This record gives sequence, structure tokens and C-alpha cells, in this order.
Amino acid sequence: MSAPGTRVFVVNSGSSSIKYQLVDVATEEAILSGLVERIGEPGGDAADHVDGMRRVLAELGDAATGLVAVGHRVVHGGEAFTAPTVVTDAVIEQIEQVSMLAPLHNPANLAGIRAAMAVLPDVPHVAVFDTAFHQTMAPAAYTYAIDREVAREHGVRRYGFHGTSHAFVAGRAAEHLGVPLEQLKLIVLHLGNGASITAIDGGRSIDTSMGLTPLQGLVMGTRSGDLDPAVLLHLHRQAGMSVDELDALLNKRSGLLGLSGSADMRDVTKAADEGDRDAALALDVWAHRIRHYVGAYLAQLGGLDAVVFTAGVGENSPQLRALALAGLEFLGLEVDPEVNAARSRAARTISPEGAGVAVLVVPTNEELSIARQAAALAGA
Ligand code: AMP
Repeated sequence: MSAPGTRVFVVNSGSSSIKYQLVDVATEEAILSGLVERIGEPGGDAADHVDGMRRVLAELGDAATGLVAVGHRVVHGGEAFTAPTVVTDAVIEQIEQVSMLAPLHNPANLAGIRAAMAVLPDVPHVAVFDTAFHQTMAPAAYTYAIDREVAREHGVRRYGFHGTSHAFVAGRAAEHLGVPLEQLKLIVLHLGNGASITAIDGGRSIDTSMGLTPLQGLVMGTRSGDLDPAVLLHLHRQAGMSVDELDALLNKRSGLLGLSGSADMRDVTKAADEGDRDAALALDVWAHRIRHYVGAYLAQLGGLDAVVFTAGVGENSPQLRALALAGLEFLGLEVDPEVNAARSRAARTISPEGAGVAVLVVPTNEELSIARQAAALAGA
């Protein structure tokens, strides 16, 4: 086992759960991981977040001694946070201030931060924001064309999410290609239950498909992604749907689930293979949307060195990787069927030799990325 001086405790706190991992940044190994669930619910694992955190620490035992840092995933950093930040009272206050942009996520993340600080008061706590990586976008990319006063007053603009994953995967892709990240034009497709796509020029995010919230962009497990905003007005006026009903419709009952009846890509592909028309359409809409963004980002980047697949679907489904890029051969974008089909956990190239653009599969690891950033800030 490694020296304790390289261990970071990574916390992803939800409103009723705490997901955690103890990561060794020297060996890149997850030493321990787990989940406290149904916090505050009858029969749940813990009465509140502090109680939950105490249980986690008891579980970690000796492994938690000599921690270099605790890394906290925070969903929304607004415009205030462009990089990971050591948590202080002032930082907690700033995170509270941007909570209006992520009312479901930030308060839950803060509950985790407060609980972890209560039980681990002597370790530096570092907040790592899903939005921070995308703060390099230019105004042209992040501005929505609405009344500027309304936008300013309510913080309405594109922020983007999955930043930790996009940044990590871009770095790994550069290592794999043996080319400095600063010299690469990349399109990263994070295709999991949540999904987003980012154009990365020289290591900087220049455009990304998620917006004010993680609802915009690609077709996801249960989220609609892009639609005409007037759909909301129409459903409100014609169907009498309330704000909460519309929220639930777009966030929880749309996407693959809404189109096919299942949010799980494995079910959807199986059903489509068996001739289910709704499932086949769901896949077509999913892939159509991805190609729409690949084309757009190719234009924004003004060139392209590699397309990178990551997350649950991107890492595991040769069939869906091929579908996502189908028809883009004229851009030099294609996958080699044999290499694409080979199973592996490593970063790898799946485009044919000599292809115009490299196509890669790079497993993401948000916990490791958070741990590394927290350790770097803590001076380890
Ligand atoms: P994530 O959110 O990154 O954990 O990804 C979850 C999604 O990946 C779910 O929709 C899974 O069905 C999907 N997934 C995982 N393995 C496969 C696979 N072999 N084929 C298709 N989809 C998969």
C-alpha cells in the first residue's frame, strides 16, 4: 500500500446521498468507494449529512489518516469559479449565491461540504466545479440572445457541465496521441446517462452543448436536450402544465425514456435490434443530435485532430460509437470495425490507420481528476 500522504477523499454529495471514494493520486487507484443512501428518510442509512459522513469515516478507518485533502464535486460555480478552490467561509457563501442556478444540486453539495468539514476539520477541503472548465468560452458562445437586462439580473447564459470529465479526457487523449494538448483541436463526446459534447481548442473549452443547466444539448437518459423553448409555452397554455410538471417532463420523462420507454441504452439498443420502432427512432434521434453538434463544433474549431468518446455509452458500446459517426466519412471521420469492437479499459485509437481525424475511446475518471486537482491545491 502507498504512503498516506498521497490520499484524497473525494465526496459527491446529493440531497439524500453521499457518494465517496478514497483515491491515491500517486498510484491513481481507488482504495475504497461507497455510497450512503436515503439520508434523512425513514429506514435510510443516516439521519443527516453529518451523521452520514461520520459513518463513512468509520468505514474508512485507518485509511483516512494522513489525508492530503478532501475534494468536493460542486455542480454549479456560476461565473464566480473558474478553477478548483480551497473552501473557506467566503467560498461557501459564494457557492450559496450561485445556488439559484442549480437549486437541486448546489445546496446538496454544500451539505456534503459542511458535513465533511465538521468531521475532518484539519484537512484542506477543495471544491471542484462542473462548470469551471467551460469558463473559457467566449461571449459569442455563451450568450443567449434574450433581453440583456433580464439575462444579467438572473445569471442567464450558457455555463456548461461535465467540465471535470471533459478536461480529464482531453488531457488523457493528448497523452495517448503523444501531442501537447496546446496543439490539439478536439471534440469530446461524454455519452452517459447525462451527455454533453465539448469543442476543445488547445486545451480550452470553446463551446459545449449543456447550457444554463444540464438540460440543454444532446438526447440523454431522461432529459430532452435541445428543443424549441416555445414548446414550454405551448404545453403551459394548451395542456395546462405547471412549471413543476414541465420540469419533470423535460428532466425526468424525456430523452431515451420518453422516446422508447427505457432510459438505459442497453435496453434501447436491444429493443431496436429486436425490431421495436420507438427504440429505433430513439437511437436515430440520439445519433442525429450528436452529428449536428460534431458538425457545428468542427466549424467552430476550424479543424479537427480527434474525436474522443467517453462515459458509459462512449466507453462501452462499439455499435453506438459507429452509429454516432455514421455518414461523416467524408470529413475523414470513421471507425475501424475491428478495433472499435475490441474490448479494453485503456485509452485507445479506433479509427483506421491513416485516417484524417483520429477517433479515440478514453475512459473518464472524475474522482481521480477531482482528487488530483484537490491534491495540487493542497500542495501535495
Ligand atoms: P454513465 O452515466 O456514464 O454511467 O453511463 C450510463 C449509461 O451507459 C447507461 O445508459 C448504460 O445503459 C450505458 N451503457 C453502459 N454499458 C453499455 C453498453 N455496453 N452498451 C450500451 N450502453 C451501455
